[in-house]
Amino acid sequence: NEGSGVEGKQTVVVPEIKFTKLFINGEFVDAASGKTFETRDPRTGDVLANIAEADKADVDLAVAAAREAFEHGPWPRMSGYARGRAMSKLADLVEQRIEELALLDGADAGKLLLLGKIIDIPGAVQMLRYYAGAADKIHGDSLRVSGKYQGYTLKEPIGVVGVIIPWNFPSLMFFLKISPALAAGCTVVVKPAEQTPLSALYYADLARQAGIPDGVINVVPGFGPTAGAAIASHMDVDSVAFTGSGEVGRLVMEASARSNLKTISLELGGKSPLIIFDDADVDMAVELSRLAIFFNKGEVCVAGSRVYVQEGIYDEFVKKAVVAAQNWKVGDPFDVATNMGPQVDKAQFERVLKYIDLGKSEGATLLTGGKPAGDRGYYIEPTIFADVKEDMKIAQDEIFGPVMSLMKFKTVDEAIEKANCTKYGLAAGIITKDLNIANRVSRSVRAGTVWVNCYFAFDPEAPFGGYKMSGFGRDQGMMAIDKYMQVKSVITAVPDSPW
Ligand code: ADP
Repeated sequence: NEGSGVEGKQTVVVPEIKFTKLFINGEFVDAASGKTFETRDPRTGDVLANIAEADKADVDLAVAAAREAFEHGPWPRMSGYARGRAMSKLADLVEQRIEELALLDGADAGKLLLLGKIIDIPGAVQMLRYYAGAADKIHGDSLRVSGKYQGYTLKEPIGVVGVIIPWNFPSLMFFLKISPALAAGCTVVVKPAEQTPLSALYYADLARQAGIPDGVINVVPGFGPTAGAAIASHMDVDSVAFTGSGEVGRLVMEASARSNLKTISLELGGKSPLIIFDDADVDMAVELSRLAIFFNKGEVCVAGSRVYVQEGIYDEFVKKAVVAAQNWKVGDPFDVATNMGPQVDKAQFERVLKYIDLGKSEGATLLTGGKPAGDRGYYIEPTIFADVKEDMKIAQDEIFGPVMSLMKFKTVDEAIEKANCTKYGLAAGIITKDLNIANRVSRSVRAGTVWVNCYFAFDPEAPFGGYKMSGFGRDQGMMAIDKYMQVKSVITAVPDSPW
């Protein structure tokens, strides 16, 4: 694995890739078809590993294993405390391998090694521990019920959960979805994204070592229209948790409707506004806005891709934002001096460049960037467009790349109206020192997460999900556990009730 064609030299070697097969019922197995697919290193475009390719037949086996573990295995029958202990053990095993796992995701997704080490993997560990601690705190309600009755609600695990996740945060997504499902007592079949299957398979092995019983966690790498669709339309999957594009989210919902009406939760795209008011510290605003769009090369569903700046500080902001973007160093993600690595794959690289061309032809002003960086790998320069209008495609579509659209506004009302002028509603950022503005805008923006004077502040405690076409259902927080539970009302006659 050599370095890329851009600044920053390769100093770190990708660890040996130990797990390349499907993980079904506690064993690594070949695909029924014997087929494999390539996962590539986006720094160079070179093949990293050949991975067993799951299709419907393999998904059937994985679902059968998960069903057996659910109906007859110990996992749903164990105490919440015992499940939590196994999950804590898994968290410890992951934590002991932060460096290796950050390298795996780094090579598979072009992710900064540093981000993997301080955000992705520790975040995954924190998620697991949060839900490990929650596993023995799941309870229903007692109900008074009128007449000579009493009642209570019983929370029961929903059953077999299908998980379909994207490639931008392979480890975080994996644990974001499976941790509450495991705490609830469910069993899971996970299809990682075809671009980034490596860490999920590694976690399957660690789960085995942590003593999580066979069949509780199954991992079936493969493609969306085959393996993913087989999960979404499976008659024996009780719920699907999906994160990805709006188009595929619709397909998952259709598949549920056409098959067994499995419950689904969809965390889809975003076109999140970052609104900067006149009273903001401009340097701080520039720094946050740069982070909001260029962090993880813009491959973030909550990226602050629409930046609204109030007219009083607009000119100063623009000047400084351009310099900040030019100082955001593109290069090898394994070099500590790098701020931004390559886009995840060729398709994504080409898609971002297509949107940049579109921005130019729609009449937006390209202030900086706009081209590939380096001569190989999928690197793109941090890009800023100004004079963007709400009806332009670059202001409406999720680009999922390092492209900031800048707009000017005059009044608070105008900012709110423009911020909401999108089909999405995942996140929003507000920068102001005025508490009244902050509170008013927080309440007026139709988004599942609002950050005030910060961005990307995540915590397992804070429910996360979308309004409007950013989807429905919430990950994180205690409420995520409810996605994976049924609620049963039990009503008992009390004929001799004294009341
Ligand atoms: P992105 O644009 O981030 O790649 P996608 O929605 O294409 O998002 O992919 C997210 C996940 O959905 C991936 O694991 C992908 O394989 C899967 N997927 C793609 N197509 C389908 C489909 N038709 N049914 C189920 N899953 C799919």
